This record gives sequence, C-alpha cells and structure tokens, in this order.
Amino acid sequence: MQLDDAEIIFHEPLKGGYRLIKFKAPEMAAASKPGQYVQVRIPNLEATALRRPFSICGAEDGVLTILYKQVGRGTFAMGDLQVGQKVNILGPLGDGVFPLCDSATTPLLIGGGFGVAPLLFLAKQLPQKGVLFVGGRTSEDILITEEFEKLGWEVQLCTNDGSVGTKGFVTAALDAWLEAHPETKAEMYACGPEPMLKAIDERAARFGRVAWLSLDHRMACGVGACLGCIQKVRLTDAAGNVEEKTLRVCKDGPIFKSGTIVWEA
Ligand SMILES: Cc1cc2nc3c(=O)[nH]c(=O)nc-3n(C[C@H](O)[C@H](O)[C@H](O)COP(=O)(O)OP(=O)(O)OC[C@H]3O[C@@H](n4cnc5c(N)ncnc54)[C@H](O)[C@@H]3O)c2cc1C
Repeated sequence: MQLDDAEIIFHEPLKGGYRLIKFKAPEMAAASKPGQYVQVRIPNLEATALRRPFSICGAEDGVLTILYKQVGRGTFAMGDLQVGQKVNILGPLGDGVFPLCDSATTPLLIGGGFGVAPLLFLAKQLPQKGVLFVGGRTSEDILITEEFEKLGWEVQLCTNDGSVGTKGFVTAALDAWLEAHPETKAEMYACGPEPMLKAIDERAARFGRVAWLSLDHRMACGVGACLGCIQKVRLTDAAGNVEEKTLRVCKDGPIFKSGTIVWEA
C-alpha cells in the first residue's frame, strides 16, 4: 500500500455522467491486483472530507485508471480536476482480490454500471477469454465494452429500457448462458449494485458454480481501522463446521466468495 501524489495525465467524460481519469502512479500500478481499489483525496473538497474509494480499472505501463460516475459532492468535485494536477491517492487497497481461474475454466464477468471498471483490469489478467454480461438502466450506463471486444471477449448487453442489447436484467442473459452450458467449467466474477450481486450469489448456489462478488459498501478509512464497512459472513471449514464472522469490506474484501455473504433482509 502506498500514498502517492499522482499526476493526472488524462481526464475525459464518457457518457451519462461517467468519466475516465488516469494517473501517473508507477509503483502503485505495478503493485495492483484485479479487484483492488484506491482511496482518492479530492483536493478541491474540504480538507476534512473523507477519501473516496474507486476500483482500479487499469494498471498498465505505470498508469492507474479509474472509471467513475458523478453521483454526489465528491465525484462532482472530481469532475473539475485538470490534467497536470496532482492528487493524493492511497492504494492499492483490499486483501480480498479476484482470484484468477485456471485456463480450463470459462470466466463469466458480470458488471452493472461502473461495475465494469474492475472487470476490465481482471479480463486483461485472466488466462482465458470468456463472456462479459453488462447491465445498465439505459444505454448511457453501458461503458467501455469495446475494450473487452478488442481483447476478444464475447459481450452480451442488457438494459432495463431496451435502449441497447436485450431488454431486462443482466441475470436473465446469465441464466440463459448457464442453462445452455451445464457441462462447461465456469467461474463468475461480478461487480455492480447489491441486488445484482445477491442475484448472482443465488445463481452460484443454484447452478453449482463459484462466483466472486465485489461489494462496494460505503467506507471511511480503507485500511480496516474504523470498522465502518463491516459485513457479516458465514464461513464453512473443511469439516463442515459453520462459523459466523464479521469482516471489513475495505480490508478483508472488497471481493467475497459466493455462499459466504449474509445478506441484509
Ligand atoms: C470498493 C469500492 C469501489 C468503488 N468503485 C467505484 C468505481 O469504480 N467507480 C465509481 O464511480 N464508484 C465506485 N465506488 C463508489 C464511490 O466510492 C462512490 O460513488 C463515491 O464515494 C461517492 O462519493 P460522492 O461524494 O460523489 O457521493 P456522496 O455525496 O457521498 O453520495 C452521493 C450518493 O451516492 C451514494 N453512494 C456513496 N457511496 C456509495 C457506495 N460506496 N456505494 C453505493 N452508493 C454510494 C450515496 O448513498 C448517495 O446516494 C466504489 C465504492 C467502493 C466502496
């Protein structure tokens, strides 16, 4: 984990309030693993404001990339940051990363909105190409899918309003794939809104597959100290004993294995 005053080398809007920002951060980029995130101190926000967490979307050639959506005070203030400006970043954070499956396993990536961000980093490191399922409310929420296509991934798009791809939830497309490929060894990796993650956790149990789920609970310190982002989990050991524990999403996560999360009712 490093603390770096990283220079912005690219910052452009995408669409629908999403933006892409790139920092020169060679050491942090070299140390980053798919599923990890960084905490950004937003310079033009009050000094007392908490850092904001963002998944690592890319970490290549000394450049760290973040894809973010403007939703509130912090992310709107981030929109004003200029190329050449330096920003204090803490990272890479998170001990719970996306484990890379073996080359005999088909990876299924499932992203909702900015949830595609860590999946692109992951897609570049997996030993084999698979299928990306992307969901959004409208076509405005379907982002950077051409990057996956360039890498040779099959991409299936779903929107709630049918403005692009299949109309409906991303889980419908995933179900169709899982039903059509009962014999294929596959592992799922998901990042997106909690109802989507919960639905994928349920699919993992139903179809007997493993899923890796990226939780984005609101968090403060990012290093496991403040316990502001705890998550109850149920862990089963080799002997079948079940133990309930409370883990910190920021430090023990943000990636959790399917079948372990105790979802809030
Ligand atoms: C591990 C992790 C990875 C993340 N990765 C990304 C990413 O790659 N791209 C991206 O755009 N965002 C990501 N987020 C969410 C991002 O951190 C929040 O959107 C951001 O902190 C909001 O700050 P704000 O000051 O703009 O909004 P605020 O003014 O703090 O809040 C505005 C609105 O956003 C909601 N919100 C704030 N934080 C979260 C959160 N963590 N999860 C869900 N809703 C939230 C609030 O409830 C409120 O409705 C991630 C969060 C975590 C914990």
